[in-house]
Amino acid sequence: EQDVSEYRKNLAIRVSGFDVPKPIKAFEDCGFPSQIMNAIKKQGYEKPTSIQCQAFPVVLSGRDIIGIAKTGSGKTASFVLPMIVHIMDQPELQKEEGPIGVICAPTRELAHQIYLEAKKFAKAYGIRVSAVYGGMSKLEQFKELKAGCEIVVATPGRLIDMLKMKALAMMRATYLVLDEADRMFDLGFEPQVRSIVGQIRPDRQTLLFSATMPRKVEKLAREILTDPIRVIVGEVG
Ligand code: ADP
Ligand code: MG
Repeated sequence: EQDVSEYRKNLAIRVSGFDVPKPIKAFEDCGFPSQIMNAIKKQGYEKPTSIQCQAFPVVLSGRDIIGIAKTGSGKTASFVLPMIVHIMDQPELQKEEGPIGVICAPTRELAHQIYLEAKKFAKAYGIRVSAVYGGMSKLEQFKELKAGCEIVVATPGRLIDMLKMKALAMMRATYLVLDEADRMFDLGFEPQVRSIVGQIRPDRQTLLFSATMPRKVEKLAREILTDPIRVIVGEVG
């Protein structure tokens, strides 16, 4: 595990896009509800990392974002915390409507880590999180999704399987995260990612995170994000 405070000190941040909201300096500046603040304290997070300082106000304002920062920079919380706020702002979910937050990650290990992080912050609000990736029984996953959940964390292949099986609808999916987009492309998931994005309503909020920004990912971002704000931390990009 990396020392995040050391990381934050040493790296510059570059931001581009129209009408960029001002970065925050402390978690208290975000207007997070008290249960989220409690969970942040419980995690032992004292200050937001560089990417979080800029991503929180951008994402909380409803804007699309491209976040580029290397591993260990705290990207997960930068999309998980605003996602909880986004979900709490939505009308209550009927189980057959499908999830509100959809997160795609390249591997089951990464999806599982995000699942655990999301659960920590979702629990206090009764927000349900489902993990959808290989290595688990498809039937069990099917049943879990049928029972309804606000958040799905998935690998692209298994999510496509579940969509084909009609385990979930995407009527209510308004918050889409593509995490580690470069690795998803390296692993050959571009067709699956495009298919998933194509099944989610165009008025969604879209967040794309990546450690690097190869041309193919750049092209996808241009196609699927609306007026995004780009946040680059450090020497990447
Ligand atoms: P990335 O997705 O950029 O690789 P992670 O989201 O996995 O990074 O975070 C890396 C580590 O930093 C995790 O152990 C996470 O719990 C921790 N972390 C995240 N945000 C903070 C913060 N604001 N303060 C301290 N630690 C943090
Ligand atoms: Mg990550």
